[in-house]
Amino acid sequence: MQTNFSLAQLADPHVAESEKILRTCVHCGFCTATCPTYVTLGNELDSPRGRIYLIKDMLENYRPADETVVTHIDRCLSCLSCMTTCPSGVHYMHLVDHARAHIEKTYRRPLLDRLVRGLLAVTLPYPDRMRASLKLAGIGRAFAGLFRAVPGLKPIAAMLELAPRSVPAASDVARPAVHAAEAPKRGRVAILTGCAQSVLDPGINEATVRLLTRLGVEVVVPAGEGCCGALTHHMGREEQALDFARANVDAWMREIDKGGLDAIVITASGCGTTIKDYGFMLRLDPAYAEKAARVSGLAKDVTEYLAGLDLPEPAMRPGLAVAYHSACSMQHGQKITSLPKMLLQGAGFTVREPREGHLCCGSAGTYNILQPEISAKLRDRKVANIEATGADLVATGNIGCMTQIASGSSLPIVHTVALLDWAYGGPKPAGVPEARALEAAE
Ligand code: SF4
Ligand code: SF4
Repeated sequence: MQTNFSLAQLADPHVAESEKILRTCVHCGFCTATCPTYVTLGNELDSPRGRIYLIKDMLENYRPADETVVTHIDRCLSCLSCMTTCPSGVHYMHLVDHARAHIEKTYRRPLLDRLVRGLLAVTLPYPDRMRASLKLAGIGRAFAGLFRAVPGLKPIAAMLELAPRSVPAASDVARPAVHAAEAPKRGRVAILTGCAQSVLDPGINEATVRLLTRLGVEVVVPAGEGCCGALTHHMGREEQALDFARANVDAWMREIDKGGLDAIVITASGCGTTIKDYGFMLRLDPAYAEKAARVSGLAKDVTEYLAGLDLPEPAMRPGLAVAYHSACSMQHGQKITSLPKMLLQGAGFTVREPREGHLCCGSAGTYNILQPEISAKLRDRKVANIEATGADLVATGNIGCMTQIASGSSLPIVHTVALLDWAYGGPKPAGVPEARALEAAE
């Protein structure tokens, strides 16, 4: 695609990066067919190609964002399906991240939108505040219908409806500690305890620590780590996101200096995609660029790390049929497609793949709160495809998808690592059916 940026514009490294990306797009439109918002809404401006044109026009003409740009960029899930499809290697993720930051700086949103976004940004990344808000949501759920009737307050209704009926107690695993290997030591990793996941399902990190230590890996929960920054990054709040990234880089570098780390293990693929991008996000910060690149190089999804270990025979083979839902941040963001399925099969599960696996479930960070109507359509489509597999349960590697799919299906939905922990000697995850006799399994 031809671009017309002035030399003065290109002196801004963010603009220069976006120009490079824009020039790789040949406007072939292949990406439209796999874009969930184009598939749902049928509007070119809600397709990757349409958004690329809107961003190009805004940046080239040095314009503040306007309502049209904001509407269509806000509707983008950042699912990155377009990046998987694109034959020209257009780095849509970095382009849309720049556009969102530009929107945040140059566009004044309506008051209620500002309030809702502000509330999400000061709540969700902080586990204690999030836990307190979820408890309040339990009381507020009765008023969800009232909030839904006011257009600007629909996100509040969505938030109340998504909130779990009970909030699990905080887990000891989230506290800074070193969990010693329980077999001859073969590795040392840090684990990201995260923000939303540690509140909504602390059992995921508990299962990870149990499984890894049983396999001979020392697991460190470093002091000072927190939210990866993805939630605020996707809202265009760049400085807040970079502050989270810097705090995590500092926490992990301390551990690297202390005892070395083989990997930084992440159990939420949305966080993994962002941490693997820290090197890019902090490239312009001389104090952090090198350290951030090192951290990104060490970041691994838990399934990536497990696949690199020589796993023993599982303690039992549960024999259940699992519908594997590949989170967008797993398959498109990190290009991890076969490892989780391979591990599940190796642990004695039958893996079934739902149709239209490339399409987002509509969770996408805060998307299911900020764009509840499109999100609900995508969820219902996803749930129908999952349920059509006839599986006993659903496995996935991202807490956002777990919450989203659970809001539309009664099938048990569990993190992949919780199932692996069970097969390799840990407890059965809550809500999962009993293991089937192997003869009865497929
Ligand atoms: S598939 Fe790639 S090159 Fe083609 S229009 Fe989409 S982003 Fe541009
Ligand atoms: S990130 Fe997802 S929703 Fe956004 S343009 Fe690409 S495919 Fe469409």
